[in-house]
Amino acid sequence: MPTKISRAEALRRIREEGGAPACLMCAIAARRVGDVHVIVEDEDTLVMLPRYVRRWGHVMALPKRHVTSYAEVDVELWTRTAQLAHQAARVVERVMRPRRCYLASTGSSAGELTQTSRHLHIHVVPLYEPDDKPSDIFSWAGGVYVGAPDEWAELTRRYREAWDDCWP
Ligand SMILES: [Zn+2]
Repeated sequence: MPTKISRAEALRRIREEGGAPACLMCAIAARRVGDVHVIVEDEDTLVMLPRYVRRWGHVMALPKRHVTSYAEVDVELWTRTAQLAHQAARVVERVMRPRRCYLASTGSSAGELTQTSRHLHIHVVPLYEPDDKPSDIFSWAGGVYVGAPDEWAELTRRYREAWDDCWP
């Protein structure tokens, strides 16, 4: 079972693993902040498992190019990223059987922070409880889940298999 840790402990671990990169998403894409659990990747985009999550099974899709506003993203790149988020949501539905999936392009409005990035990205978050609300899902106040290495490997494997099945 994934373990729940406090927000403070998560922030401490993130800083220990990756310091304070100028851009967290660029650092993830460049593998400068530890393991990246990749579902699919190409030259322009990355779909992976964030390592600190409010709900187990959370997936993230992002363009690799450093973009922090929609004005900087051409329609093709954003459409491709959104398509990947949609594909990821279908894979999450198939593998995790959540009650619902949230899709959201969030990120920091306060500059680059330890746990959130200005670099555009799309969250795909499975919900398992009937009373889950956006305020629960997009805040770390209630702690975050982390997996053991074998749990991350197993989840990555199940998602990759489902992806290949759904999107051959
Ligand atoms: Zn970036």
